[in-house]
Amino acid sequence: GGKEQVMLADGIRSTITLLNHKIKSKHIELNLSIPDNLPAVCGWPGELNQVWTNLIDNAIDALPDGGKIDIVSLPDREFVLTRIIDNGTGIPDDIRDKIFDPFFTTKEIGKGTGLGLDIVNGIVEHHNGSIKVHSEPGHTEFSVCLPTQ
Ligand code: ADP
Ligand code: MG
Repeated sequence: GGKEQVMLADGIRSTITLLNHKIKSKHIELNLSIPDNLPAVCGWPGELNQVWTNLIDNAIDALPDGGKIDIVSLPDREFVLTRIIDNGTGIPDDIRDKIFDPFFTTKEIGKGTGLGLDIVNGIVEHHNGSIKVHSEPGHTEFSVCLPTQ
């Protein structure tokens, strides 16, 4: 189908609901900050939900019990910038260049396919957006920039 006007708050909230059991069982504090007047992005809501699901799921996996996730969306000229921040393990420098590769995973067999970030990357490209990662021990941030038109 064609592109739609997508309200990110809706998709991010329903993703959190889907992951709620995992979030609660790990006692994760999740803070969501999305202004009411955030512009819609132009794209495919089902694909964007996969982006939030994969990024939030990875953040949960990187966290110890009681860890924290902050999700912040902000308008940025003709884009909407969404930052997903966790205070987990961080991404070691020696794997930093590989995390977007298909089938690259550091998780146990059965716990990770290594496809999540490859899928995220493809979806962001499909939307003419961009994704950046910044990580150090105790702090990882994925920022996704999506066009409003
Ligand atoms: P999977 O989750 O199946 O392992 P992904 O493509 O989603 O595959 O992620 C690839 C790898 O990137 C993960 O196995 C992990 O090592 C690393 N990674 C992704 N997100 C984070 C994060 N928020 N904190 C620490 N490491 C991460
Ligand atoms: Mg993953």
